[in-house]
Amino acid sequence: MTDNKTAKKRIVFCDFDGTITVNDNIIAIIKHFNPEGWEKIAEQTIAQEITIKDGVGQLFRLLPSSMQKEVIAFSIANARIREGFADFLDYCKEQQIEFYVTSGGIDFFVYPILEAFNIPRDHIYCNSSDFNGDRIEILWPNPCDEHCTNDCGMCKTTIMRRFPSEQYERIIIGDSVTDFEGAKLADVVYSRSHLTVKCKELGLSHHEYETFHDIIQSMNTERKIVQ
Ligand code: MG
Ligand code: ZN
Repeated sequence: MTDNKTAKKRIVFCDFDGTITVNDNIIAIIKHFNPEGWEKIAEQTIAQEITIKDGVGQLFRLLPSSMQKEVIAFSIANARIREGFADFLDYCKEQQIEFYVTSGGIDFFVYPILEAFNIPRDHIYCNSSDFNGDRIEILWPNPCDEHCTNDCGMCKTTIMRRFPSEQYERIIIGDSVTDFEGAKLADVVYSRSHLTVKCKELGLSHHEYETFHDIIQSMNTERKIVQ
């Protein structure tokens, strides 16, 4: 087991909203622009009466495309990066750990917010958007494969399955229930907030973090034990 583990390539799948950023951007956008009827859709989504894909799609359809500029400007200005993120990216480079962003967020805020960090575009998975119609339409270029029936919208487990566990030590970093299916597949889970609660409920082993410095420290400790 130990030998096996050291031989595998480490790969990180990192959530965006509430993980790389301190806040949840989708909720912040909708709350800020406050279109009529958003609370009901948000409640149904959180209660899992409708899928995340349906919920997020419906929420953005409440906003007219003519608000493109304001919506984008607000979502970028509103975002705050979690402490230690840039150091963590350096650490991954130095340790030859592959780093991927797996985000249920939307391209118009995910890419601009991450621009300062030099992460290659093909290492960032998120949803996209279309401002050509009357209303903002969310597009879903990363759907669930045949192994997932959750209708995730942006399917984290589908992406993880492209990196088989025989070759990779799969590490997930997240904060919410939407990271839970991925956490079940992962070898190592870094969790905070709702994801921690969910892991505890179901007895899934996890490391809690508040900043990316916590994760660096934990990864260093883990390595020492392994070697
Ligand atoms: Mg999140
Ligand atoms: Zn899925």
